[in-house]
This record gives sequence, structure tokens and C-alpha cells, in this order.
Amino acid sequence: MVLDNLGEKLRETLKKVAGSVFVDESLVNELVKDIQRALISGDVNVSLVLELTKKIKERALNEEAPTGLSKKEHLVNIVYEELVSFLGEEKNEIKIESKKPFKIMLVGLFGSGKTTTIGKIANYYTKRGLKVAGVGLDVHRPAAPEQLKQALEAINVPVYIDKEEKNALKIYEKYDKEFKKYDVLLIDTAGRDALSDELIKEIKVLNSKIKPDGRLLVLSADIGQAAQKQAEVFNENCDVTGVVVSKLDGTAKGGGALSACKVAKAPIVFVGLGEKVEDLETFNPTGFVSRLLGMGDIEALLEKAKEAITEDDAKDMEKKFLKGEFNLIDLYDQMESMNKMGSFSKLLEMVPGMGQLKLPKDALNVQEDKLKRWKYILNSCSRSELENPENIDTSRAERIAKGSGTSTGDVKELIKQYKQSKKMIKMMGSGDPSKLMKKFKGGMPGLK
Ligand code: GDP
Ligand code: MG
Repeated sequence: MVLDNLGEKLRETLKKVAGSVFVDESLVNELVKDIQRALISGDVNVSLVLELTKKIKERALNEEAPTGLSKKEHLVNIVYEELVSFLGEEKNEIKIESKKPFKIMLVGLFGSGKTTTIGKIANYYTKRGLKVAGVGLDVHRPAAPEQLKQALEAINVPVYIDKEEKNALKIYEKYDKEFKKYDVLLIDTAGRDALSDELIKEIKVLNSKIKPDGRLLVLSADIGQAAQKQAEVFNENCDVTGVVVSKLDGTAKGGGALSACKVAKAPIVFVGLGEKVEDLETFNPTGFVSRLLGMGDIEALLEKAKEAITEDDAKDMEKKFLKGEFNLIDLYDQMESMNKMGSFSKLLEMVPGMGQLKLPKDALNVQEDKLKRWKYILNSCSRSELENPENIDTSRAERIAKGSGTSTGDVKELIKQYKQSKKMIKMMGSGDPSKLMKKFKGGMPGLK
């Protein structure tokens, strides 16, 4: 699993939040310290970590949780959002133009994973219906052409190599005409043990003669923060269009490599997660952070954050409440949002003056199956019945029950609920919470 350690530490930290009783400054401080520890042990640059956690802290202490999200959920959401923006919000993609071929050259130090990555990228584009070929321009390592050949032949991708020729550019020129048959040409180049003038010079020559459309720098994640320097030097000399961070599967330093790319303003396009051709993923910070923090939990929370009632919705509801305009459709909407938010008492908190009523928690929860039945019932009502539910007499109720596959009792219960809610709304309009409370308690079954 990618960045096992870092992910585990962050998940533990968030679990602590979930298990705490209060969200207060001391919890936020503890959370921030835990995140700092996790990131620094994941080799992320200390000043970056401080910057990130400062933002988390500021937001956590100053932002109100939106209605529908608890304070804890809001806090977890802040951590998530800040981690995503820390890694760069956008998804960086290589836009393959329809020229033939679209040339992608891979550069990077010796052993960074260029040749392996070419196999993976070839597989990636072949699966997407493009005609791909590879050309081997690593003339420094004797075994290099054969390695590329094996990698590409295994996935039936044509490969152009010349084991005798020692001039990289000449190999390219020899096959130049052939390349026009392909949508994508992947160009493998030589690396060196370190960033040397010789390497840079060679890449510059290839760059100016071949004019690749994409220049991908392959960085091995295990170099951690050193990725920054490499990204900067390669960028200066061959104008890197994207980065592949390889070997993220086997290192504790991945956090350093990923964040270093952000500092070097080098957009990460792919990440390598193993030695096999399938072990490549497009890099998408949102998905990446979700997985880091524990996919299922975080996704459910984000869904909830999206659905949470906006202030505008709440205001609309409030206006209707106060004006006493209310029909069956409004009732259903109200029930549905109560259901979404968990309890009626929360809904009441949004109405001015109602917050102090201190209703018993969940006293008025509507069960989901009841809501479902009500929805069927509403679908079987005519427009005039929806707008004037008072006119639904027994024979109409029978007809509606039949049409909706419910019982007459269900229909009557819905009407009863409607009448009670309407009464309550009228009282709210009167603006006297104590009077309201008295009547309200009497009027609602099961509420004492
Ligand atoms: P090059 O010198 O840049 O062409 O690097 P290679 O493609 O030859 O890769 C060097 C070594 O790293 C090989 O043993 C690869 O199998 C390995 N390697 C490359 N990418 C990954 C990866 O994403 N994960 C793991 N675990 N190993 C990788
Ligand atoms: Mg190689």
C-alpha cells in the first residue's frame, strides 16, 4: 500500500478526533501536533509541514461547522481539504494531441525507473485505444535496449532499438519515418548516477532535435526531499512538462518526494506503485488523500459535506415556516431534510428563538421506511391534493392508498402529521416559544 506509515499515522490521528468528546483548542492542538509528527516522519519538509498545519489550525479554530456537519466531521474535512490543496488541487494530465506521433520523452537519473515506466505508460495508452511504440535511446547501459525490448514486447508494443549504435540521436533519426504510424511514441533515454553536466548536455541535444511534445521526469520516491533539487535542475534544462514519481510502494519517504514536486512546481502526472506494467496510476490529489486517510470513511464524510444544508436552503425553510405557507410537498421536504440531518431538534435550531427549546434529542426522528411510504403516497396525490391536503377525505385516501401501494392508515397518518406540523408552524409565527412549547408537547405524541 502507498505510503503505509504516513497513512496509518494520519488515520490514527483522525480516529482520535472521532473518539474525543469535545472539539476544543486542546484537541485541535493535539491534532496539529500529530499531523506534524506524521508528515515529518514521512520526510516532508519541516517548513512545509508548519505552513500546512498552521492553516489547519486557523481554520479549525475560526470556522463554524456548516449545518449538517458536526464539529468533528468539519475538523476532519478541514484536514482533508488542506492535505489535498497541499498536494496541488488539479489533476494533471498529458493531453495527447492528434498528431502522429505525439512524442513523450522520459528523463531522469539512472535507476529512477524510466524504462519500467515506459512499459507502464505504453500499457496505459494501449488500453485506451492508442497505437503506441517505444524507442530506446539509452546508449550508455549495454543491457538497456534489451530491457526496453522485453518490457514492450510483453505487451505487444513495437519497439525500436539499435544495440550497436552509440549515438542516441542517430538511432532516433534512423527510425524517424516509421514513427509516423503511431499515435504515441515513448522515448527512453539514458541516466547517470548523479546530475552531471554530461547528462544534461545529452538531454538538451535530444530535446532540441527531437522536440518531444511531452517531457516526463521520472523521480524515484525513495530520494525523498532530494526530489526538489532534481526537479528544479531538469526543469531548467529541458522544460519538464510533468513528473512520474516511481517506487511509491516501497518507501517511507514518499511524502517528501510528493511535496518536493509541489515546491519545484513540477506537476505530478503519474505515480508508480510497483514493478509490473499495471502498477501505474494517474495522480489525482483528491483520490490520493482519500486513500491515505482511509477511503471509505472519508468518502462518506465528503458526500455528507456536499449534501449538508446550505444557509440559503435553511433561510428558505425559515421564511416558509414564519409565513405559515406550507403544503404536503413542503412537509415531505422537511421530513427528508430532518432525516438527512439526523433530528428535528437540529432543524428547529435554525429557526430563530427555537434553539433554546432544548428538545429531547431525536425525539422526532422519522424512520426511513416511513419516509419512503410517504414519498409513494405523495406521488399518487393530484396537484390540488398536494396543495390542499385538507380536502383529502376517506374515499380520496382510499384511492391514494391503492395507487401508491400503501394502506389507508398510512395516508391518514401522513395527513395527521401534516396537520400537526401546520399547527406548529402557525404557532412559530406567533413568536412565543414558551406558549409554543406547551402546545407542541401536548400535540406531538411521545414527547413529554
Ligand atoms: P531506469 O534506469 O531509470 O530506466 O530504471 P529502471 O526502469 O531500469 O528501474 C530500476 C529499478 O527500479 C528496476 O529494478 C525496476 O523494477 C524498479 N522499479 C521501477 N519502478 C518501480 C516502482 O514503481 N516500484 C518498484 N517497487 N520498483 C520499481
Ligand atoms: Mg533504463
